[in-house]
Amino acid sequence: MTEREASQIPKKDENFSEWYTAVALKAELADYSPVRGFMAIRPYGYALWEGMQAWLDRRFKDTGHVSAYFPLLVPESFLQKEAEHVQGFAPQVAWVTQGGDEKLSERLAVRPTSEAIILPMYAKWIQSYRDLPVLLLQWNSVVRWERATRLFLRTAEFLWHEGHTAHRTAEDADAECRLILGIYRDLLEDVLAIPVLTGIKSKSERFAGADNTYTLEALMPDGQAIQAGTSHFLGQNFAKAFNVKFLDSDNQEKYIWSTSWAVTTRLIGCLIMAHGDDRGLVLPPQIAPYHIVIVPILGKEEAKVLAAARDLAKTLGTRFRVKLDDRDAYTPGWKFNEWELRGVPVRLEVGPRDVAAGQAVLVRRSGGAKQAVPVNGITDAVGKVLDEIQKELFHRAKAYRDSHTTSADSVEAIVRALAEVKGFVKVGWCESQQCEDTIRERTGASPRVIPLDEKARGNCVVCGKPAKAWVYYARAY
Ligand SMILES: [Zn+2]
Repeated sequence: MTEREASQIPKKDENFSEWYTAVALKAELADYSPVRGFMAIRPYGYALWEGMQAWLDRRFKDTGHVSAYFPLLVPESFLQKEAEHVQGFAPQVAWVTQGGDEKLSERLAVRPTSEAIILPMYAKWIQSYRDLPVLLLQWNSVVRWERATRLFLRTAEFLWHEGHTAHRTAEDADAECRLILGIYRDLLEDVLAIPVLTGIKSKSERFAGADNTYTLEALMPDGQAIQAGTSHFLGQNFAKAFNVKFLDSDNQEKYIWSTSWAVTTRLIGCLIMAHGDDRGLVLPPQIAPYHIVIVPILGKEEAKVLAAARDLAKTLGTRFRVKLDDRDAYTPGWKFNEWELRGVPVRLEVGPRDVAAGQAVLVRRSGGAKQAVPVNGITDAVGKVLDEIQKELFHRAKAYRDSHTTSADSVEAIVRALAEVKGFVKVGWCESQQCEDTIRERTGASPRVIPLDEKARGNCVVCGKPAKAWVYYARAY
């Protein structure tokens, strides 16, 4: 990576799509693989995923969930048991038809999602109300045969976790969906610094086989919405398809109520887009693989400077993730570019004059003036700066989202808002499929989310009948 290469990243404002791909590749988050549509995730990209995994796993465990693992392959007859489910996923399924030399008597689907392999296990494991709830998840990958793919945002294989829970009552299952929605919102807003709208999907946008889909929608800087996570209330659809019943305390045999939920490596794509700039990634401290990079400015007093830089790394390392870049084959300028490209929130420069003055020079990746910080008390000073950066990135993203959210009282006004403001357009809706289809066809936008607990007012933008719900529309990834 040379200074010239960094400048080869296209401008974010001028060509958002090329800018995105260049950052993902040059910051070494991921790369194309020999299998079309499948990507290799590189260590720095995987570190972001590990950060999300660690954070989520702690929240999942704290709320009583446990991890398990289920087979990669699903017999075709199982995938077909839930009619809507198979219809929704059939066009994207990859099939195994042969094992070694032997042609299989039944095709096996590479899981596009795992309801059809997990629920049959629940049928074996759940007998009584005493066995409920079952709160399992698995960290795995799934395959969906996509035609057009983009690094992280849409790939034929992606990493995720999928939660699959079984409950005694509909209320319990719904409460689970909302609990998970809240955990995902905390991940997005508190860790990734990406504001989200939360609520439910309209019927046509639900997960195939779900009675209700809770969703989190974020707005990216090109004005397009992205679905950041979902939590599905599956009702008893899968319970009935796979015959998962339990004996309740009233001695009645009943079907379980189930949920499923996920966030995926797509979130890494959201991170790149939400905060990055013309110099590359900008990472919120909460998720950054390194909070701080220390770059010694070597000159006359090389040994002294290196010793000071190492001491600093040791001191800060007790509280932060620190990278000391003491490679002598690269110039400081080269290193500055490299770590800016990789989005490290704080850079500390230590040169001979700083050593003499007992200080380091602090530079924020997100912008602002250089600042000299005394080594004495530097841990608290850097901690404060990291907190500020975390908040600043969230507020910056939220200010963008809020200024790109408008409302419209006619279909024409939606078209106008999408062209002029871009972003979310809030409209009243009568809840008819026909009116939804009309908006979709005439504006190119899709209904992203119906906010919860927000009473509709006014009329449907299409038919003029009283509105039953608010809906946020946007063009979307
Ligand atoms: Zn209507």
